[in-house]
Amino acid sequence: SAKASGRNEYRFYTDDLASYSKTQSHLEYELKRAIGAGGLSLAYQPIVDIDTGKILCAEALIRWDEGTVGPDIFVPIAEMSGLVGRMTEWVLDEVGREQHFWRQHGLPLIPISVNVSPVQFKLRGFIEDIERRLRDQKLFANLLQIELTETVVMENAEHAIRSIKRLREHGIKVALDDFGKGYSSLSYLSRLPIDKIKIDKEFILGFSASNSSRAITDAIIALGTALQLEVVAEGIETLEMLMYVRQQGCRQAQGFYICKPVNGELFAKNFLEGLVLLGQPGHKKKT
Ligand code: C2E
Ligand code: MG
Ligand code: MG
Ligand code: MG
Repeated sequence: SAKASGRNEYRFYTDDLASYSKTQSHLEYELKRAIGAGGLSLAYQPIVDIDTGKILCAEALIRWDEGTVGPDIFVPIAEMSGLVGRMTEWVLDEVGREQHFWRQHGLPLIPISVNVSPVQFKLRGFIEDIERRLRDQKLFANLLQIELTETVVMENAEHAIRSIKRLREHGIKVALDDFGKGYSSLSYLSRLPIDKIKIDKEFILGFSASNSSRAITDAIIALGTALQLEVVAEGIETLEMLMYVRQQGCRQAQGFYICKPVNGELFAKNFLEGLVLLGQPGHKKKT
């Protein structure tokens, strides 16, 4: 009947749409809309002092459409399509808004760490954008940290080093994220004026299965410590992993075992009040 064939046509059409929606240009279009239309949000994941359980800071992690498309997919799209500038601006504004909100409600303030894409970091005007926000008191240097990956130094190391220095002169801490993942780590590390390194979570996640991951984790902790950098172990999913990095001399940790990324409201409600995570009654120990 006509009705049945209509239904079939409809099904065909939606299948087609579904595959179209997966294409990059469609994602690009949707992302562009989302940036302007309140479609993005931030999740916050605490970073704790392993010995005391105290929350030292939190990383802001961008979410789109409640997480249906992850940042590993859409951040590269933003980078390739020139949207990354607006995306980063949005993240910085949002972090500032959230911190003002916390301040207004008398909550203790902790630094929030923002991931800055190498593409954005290299653009002229990025440091000035941050400085303008500091001047306008939209952001506070002691409450802002920047996470970079080592690819920032690949094309123009001098420029990257100058920019990092300028951020740190304001008192903004700079971390090198996903450390060990790139291939130029060692040669650049001693030249980069950074405050901390975050061990790439692949090594932490792989360490129980692989001796080499364990060896790399050990080496990064030793190297960071020798260079007097803060060392953060990311991707801590079990008590075993936490105890292992601690025993190797790592003082700071972040990961699902400690706390998953949560929205700003939950973060304020559950964590800013107490500021202690590990060893608290509310903290679920894996058995
Ligand atoms: P990243 O900066 O290395 O962030 C850490 C990632 O590890 C986050 O993934 C976090 O949810 C995840 N994670 C934390 N603990 C664990 C754990 O115990 N186990 C496992 N398996 N994963 C854990 P997410 O949120 O999907 O972000 C992925 C990447 O996207 C980030 O890696 C960062 O490179 C990028 N990204 C996130 N937000 C932003 C942003 O605002 N701007 C830019 N430029 N990039 C961002
Ligand atoms: Mg990061
Ligand atoms: Mg990382
Ligand atoms: Mg990453």
